[in-house]
Amino acid sequence: MREIKHYIGGEFMTGGTGHLDSINPTHPDQIIGEVPLGSAELMGQAVEVAASNQSAWRKQTGAARAGQLHAWGDAISARQEELAKAIVDEVGKPIGEARGEVQRCVAILRYFAGEAVRPVGEVVPSLTPGALQYSLREPHGVVGLITPWNFPLAIPLWKAAPALAVGNTVVLKPSEHSGYCAQLLAETAHAAGLGNVFQVVMGAGDTGRTLVEHVEVRAISFTGSDRTGKAIALTCAERNKRFQTEMGGKNVAIVLADADLKQAANLVAGGAMRFAGQKCTATSRVVVDSGIRGRFIDELRAAIDSLPVGDPAAAETAVGPVISAASQGRIDAAVSNAEFIYQSSKPDKGFFVASSVVGGISETDDLAQNELFGPVLALFEAKSFDQAIQIANHTRFGLSASLCTRDIGNALKYIDQVQAGMVRVNADTTGVDPHAPFGGYKGSSSGTREQGEVAKDFYTQIKTVQINP
Ligand code: NAD
Repeated sequence: MREIKHYIGGEFMTGGTGHLDSINPTHPDQIIGEVPLGSAELMGQAVEVAASNQSAWRKQTGAARAGQLHAWGDAISARQEELAKAIVDEVGKPIGEARGEVQRCVAILRYFAGEAVRPVGEVVPSLTPGALQYSLREPHGVVGLITPWNFPLAIPLWKAAPALAVGNTVVLKPSEHSGYCAQLLAETAHAAGLGNVFQVVMGAGDTGRTLVEHVEVRAISFTGSDRTGKAIALTCAERNKRFQTEMGGKNVAIVLADADLKQAANLVAGGAMRFAGQKCTATSRVVVDSGIRGRFIDELRAAIDSLPVGDPAAAETAVGPVISAASQGRIDAAVSNAEFIYQSSKPDKGFFVASSVVGGISETDDLAQNELFGPVLALFEAKSFDQAIQIANHTRFGLSASLCTRDIGNALKYIDQVQAGMVRVNADTTGVDPHAPFGGYKGSSSGTREQGEVAKDFYTQIKTVQINP
C-alpha cells in the first residue's frame, strides 16, 4: 500500500490523526494510496517553516524567484506523462484532458515567472512640490491554499505560482481525494529547490480548518464548494484575514434560433458531459429558443452519443466516472424522479453516472438551482431572448455563461446583461486561457480573480509611500 506523505521543510513525512484511502474511481477496488490526515501540530510545523523562510524569499530579486518558478515548470515537464496518468488514476479525468492540465501547469509557471519581474507599483503625483509618491505592492507573508480534487495539479499551481512570484511563502492543503497528485506536485517542487517556501499538509476538512485558523497565515485562497467556501469566509472575516473563495456554478448556455445548431449541440454536449461534468465551469443548464427545441434536441442527442463514456485511460474517452460512490449516489438520487430527454448507457463497474438531459423542470427546482457536479444538463425553453436571459440569470451562482448565435447584436446584448464572471460566445462554458482573469459573479466567488495579471491583487497588499525633498 502506497503511503502518501506531507511535504514539510523539504522532507516527505507521514503522521497525523489517521488516514483516508484515495480510491481510483474507475476501478474502486484499486486504492491509490493512504492519505494521512494532518494534525494541528503538523500544520503548525509547516506554517513555521513557511514563516521563517518568507523574509529571505521576499528579499530575493524577482528575477531569482522567476528562475525558481521556471525550474518548477521544467520539473513538471520532465514528468508530464507520469503526472497525467496520476490524474487519470486518482480522479478519473480522461487522459487527453489530464495531459492538457499538465501543460496548463507549465504555462502557469512560465506566466507567473514573467509576472515576478513586472512593476510592483506606480508613481502617484504628489500635492507636495518635489515629493516622490508611489504605491508599492508587498506580499502578505504566509498564504494558505485549500484546493479541490478536480484540477489536482492546476488549481494548487494557479494559486501557488502568483503567491510565490510576489514573495509570499505558501502552505497547501490539497483535497483528500487527490493526495497522490499533490505528493507528485510536491516532488516536482522539491526538484526545483522550493522546499523552504512550498509546504503541503495532507488531510480533509479538519486539517483545512487548522490552516485557516492559524494565526501566522495572513491570507487564505480557497477553491471548492460554496458550502465550504462560506464557512471559510466566515472564519477569515472574524479574524480579519484576507480571503478568496472561488466556488461552484450553475453555468448556462443559451441557444438562439439563428445559431449553427450542430456546432451549438457539440459545444453544449462537451461543456456538460466531458470529465463527467465535474468542472466548476461545466454547462449544467441550457436554454433553447422554443422554435428550435425539437431540432436542437436531435442534434444534442447525436452530440452526446459522440462522446465516448468509459475508462479515462483510453485515448478516445471523453466521459469517465465521477469522483466517489457518494457523488454517484447523490447525483443518481437527484435525477431519480426527473423527466429524461436523453440518458446514455454507462459501464457497470466504477463510479459511473449516465450522461443525462432532463426537462420539465421549473426555474426554482433543485435541478435548476443546485450544483450537482455530474453529467446532468437541465433543458429549458424560452419564447424570447429576453426570457432566455432572465432564466440564465435566475441562479445564485454566476461563474460562466455561453451563447450560441450568429447575430453580433444578440452577442453584445448578452455580454451586457448576463450575470457571470466569464462570458463566451460560440464557445462552451468551460475552458479559459490560463493567462486570462478567472472567477465568478454573485455566489460563485468572493469577487477577486485568479490567473492572469489580476491574480496579484489578492496576493499583495499596497503600501503608499511619500518621500519629501
Ligand atoms: P469541497 O468544498 O468539498 O472541498 C474543497 C477543499 O476544502 C478540500 O481540500 C477539502 O478538504 C477542504 N475543506 C472541506 N471542509 C473544510 C473546512 N471546514 N475548512 C477548511 N477546508 C475544508 O469541494 P470539492 O468537492 O473538493 O470540489 C468541488 C467543488 O469545487 C465544486 O463545487 C466546484 O464547482 C468547485 N470548484 C470551483 C472552481 C472555481 O474556480 N470556481 C474550480 C474547481 C472546482
